[in-house]
Amino acid sequence: MTSSPYDVVVIGGGIIGLSSALHIIQRFPKTSVAVLEKESQIGLHQTGHNSGVIHSGIYYRPGSQKARFCVSGVEDLKRYCREKGIEYDECGKVIMATDESEIPRLEELYRRGTDNGVPGLELIGPERLKEIEPHARGIKALYAPKTAIVDFQRVAVAYVEDIQEGGGDILTGQKVQRIARSNGKLVLETNQGSVVSRHLINCAGLYADKVARMMGVPPNVRILPFRGEYYVLRPQSRELVKGLLYPVPDPRFPFLGVHYTKRVNGEVEAGPNAVLAWAREGYKKTAINIPEALGNLAFMGFWRMARRTWRMGLAEMHRSVVKSVFVKDLQKLVPEIRSEDLVRGGAGVRAQAVDRQGALLDDFSIEESQGAIHVLNAPSPGATSSLSIGRHIADLAARSFRLEG
Ligand SMILES: Cc1cc2nc3c(=O)[nH]c(=O)nc-3n(C[C@H](O)[C@H](O)[C@H](O)COP(=O)(O)OP(=O)(O)OC[C@H]3O[C@@H](n4cnc5c(N)ncnc54)[C@H](O)[C@@H]3O)c2cc1C
Repeated sequence: MTSSPYDVVVIGGGIIGLSSALHIIQRFPKTSVAVLEKESQIGLHQTGHNSGVIHSGIYYRPGSQKARFCVSGVEDLKRYCREKGIEYDECGKVIMATDESEIPRLEELYRRGTDNGVPGLELIGPERLKEIEPHARGIKALYAPKTAIVDFQRVAVAYVEDIQEGGGDILTGQKVQRIARSNGKLVLETNQGSVVSRHLINCAGLYADKVARMMGVPPNVRILPFRGEYYVLRPQSRELVKGLLYPVPDPRFPFLGVHYTKRVNGEVEAGPNAVLAWAREGYKKTAINIPEALGNLAFMGFWRMARRTWRMGLAEMHRSVVKSVFVKDLQKLVPEIRSEDLVRGGAGVRAQAVDRQGALLDDFSIEESQGAIHVLNAPSPGATSSLSIGRHIADLAARSFRLEG
């Protein structure tokens, strides 16, 4: 820890906080930067518990930040991986309609993806689909040949190496508990003492709204944790899936529906579902954090969301506890899959911002307050977009914090 103040402190050593710190250091080498992370290692939350897909930018509304940051972020990320020798695999992705009623939505995704500039998109019929995914059964599909897979935690470690090489500090085991202003500076009280900074970038993921509140900037949203649970295909069943195989998503929700994902280590995962968790870091079904759960119940947006989506919420909970329901959804994509092919895997928790009207924020949300920038909603494709989000945050910081040299 330094006794002289940092120019910029980033709270949160996830992939977005690290990318933001990296961009600032690269553009303004004289700026002193530290990343504060509460865990003993970086990337242990969303960055280390995701599907590992380098999304190509199909789903997002043209002109949205998700569309812009994802499409530009993909190429930056792949280039970065090549430079750093990080393995990624352009295994391609198929979004598959299994019912006539899904075709208009599939065609809409094709239009969106094309408008967003996703390269190589193709609408394909059952024969071409069989060549790509021999065990899938669909009537029409959208093929994105450039969609890839990577280990995002490995990417985050490379960001750390570059930050340290550029002179930045990574301070792990430092949970920010309070933030005060003193003589125009920010005093961040952590479990290990205090760190002083001129400016702050809040990339605290599941706790980003809490950190904003610590700065006296109550956000208009609350982060609700949506757990995504996975199954893993047994090694002998992996050949049932060649790449990435998705259903047509339900347009009412920002989640993609349970799907099959090949991982860079050769495993194939099935999931994730989206179950409201009762703890922000509630990786297990039994995890409950009473103050956090009560905080959700006291938030008007929670009840408004619940009124609109309770049916879907109950269905997700049912699928979460009854394996046969999960399997049935997976069989819509690959009819040969059997319950015995699947063993329970891990889980991740999505930090999803919900506004007071109960709407799940669809786009990324990055807000500014005096001396600070807050990343309040950065769900998927946040990891794919990490380099372009980091560059955008460095642009905001350059202007608002008046960074030089
Ligand atoms: C199940 C799941 C599947 C996903 N799949 C994909 C995918 O395939 N492709 C994709 O592009 N994206 C995917 N995402 C989204 C992606 O993982 C996130 O967008 C991205 O990781 C967000 O990074 P972050 O740095 O904002 O958050 P995080 O990685 O959660 O980092 C936030 C950090 O802040 C720290 N922190 C919190 N509070 C404090 C505090 N008070 N003091 C100090 N530190 C603090 C936390 O410990 C944490 O390390 C998925 C996410 C989930 C959960």
